[in-house]
Amino acid sequence: TDPLTAMTTAQDILKALQAPVDWLDRTLVIDVDAGVALAADCDGEGEGDASSLLHNADLAVKTAIQRGGANYAFYNPALAKSAKRRIDILNALQQGLEKGHIEMYFQPIFEASTCKLVGFEALMRMQTPELGQVSPVEFIPIAEESGLIAKLGAWALFDACRVASNWPPYLTVAVNISPEQFYAGTVTTDVHHALQLTSLPANQLELEVTESSVLKDSESVQIQLLALQELGCGIALDDFGTGYSSLSYLWKFPFSKLKIDRAFIAAMDSTPDAKGILESLLSVAQHVGLEVTAEGIEPQEQQNVVAGLGAHFLKGLHVRRPMRE
Ligand code: C2E
Ligand code: CA
Ligand code: CA
Repeated sequence: TDPLTAMTTAQDILKALQAPVDWLDRTLVIDVDAGVALAADCDGEGEGDASSLLHNADLAVKTAIQRGGANYAFYNPALAKSAKRRIDILNALQQGLEKGHIEMYFQPIFEASTCKLVGFEALMRMQTPELGQVSPVEFIPIAEESGLIAKLGAWALFDACRVASNWPPYLTVAVNISPEQFYAGTVTTDVHHALQLTSLPANQLELEVTESSVLKDSESVQIQLLALQELGCGIALDDFGTGYSSLSYLWKFPFSKLKIDRAFIAAMDSTPDAKGILESLLSVAQHVGLEVTAEGIEPQEQQNVVAGLGAHFLKGLHVRRPMRE
């Protein structure tokens, strides 16, 4: 009932559980997080009963885990609200394909030097009567945590290839692949099926992979990427310039393109060093034979600067918004 007592109790528990343990000839340290719920915060029937307290504590501990390090976090009613939204989105995702609430949109990509259209990036959209438009930034992580990404990801590949199979052969389609699809080991089969069913030539398909895909279990990912390259697909490293962005990725994995993140491009205006770093990055890319796409080109100024520095392709709201088939 008393927040202060709850807090000191949580701290005591964390401290006790974190004490190093000597085991064989090693010292083990346990990673602990705690969620704290107060009886006063349990609303509705059964106020403060054990199961609603545990439920609230369970929501709170997720916050503690997200913060990283050994931590405790208090439950607050906003957590219940975000948990409910998560469940609503999960339900909508479960039937989204059948109900036609999920669609692929296509954002054009232009060649920087000539402004010629060279292809599109396929981006998933979800809209339901109850929730309205939900951003992929919100629903993709939920699809990943719940395992639904396997089905959605396979469908995205198929649908993007289906649409692109009606385009002239010089236009490519880029499809985002979730790290979870690599960990599940299903990408190669999904790509193979999509290409076969739609008769899209493999060289018109580009797969966008993020750093988190290659970070974990990199040997298995490398094998899958090589198999995809063998099929004839292009492979782009997405969101470069965020996270660790190790240069070693550039030669360890069979990438054909580097996509420089929007945040990095945006920094050019405010950070004098960003332009120099970008310049060096482009020269490294050129050296290892990688093409470069600059994402999120907004003002004309940035477009000129980025093109002037030698980026090959441009994509951004300034350049064109995503559109339907
Ligand atoms: P991403 O792969 O980095 O995609 C680029 C995002 O930046 C898209 O947002 C695009 O609309 C947006 N964007 C492009 N240019 C600009 C610009 O100039 N200004 C601004 N403000 N935004 C710009 P979107 O469609 O909301 O997608 C967000 C993220 O969701 C994607 O980031 C990608 O990580 C994920 N995502 C979207 N569709 C899929 C999908 O089919 N599969 C998977 N696994 N992830 C997807
Ligand atoms: Ca992308
Ligand atoms: Ca990106």
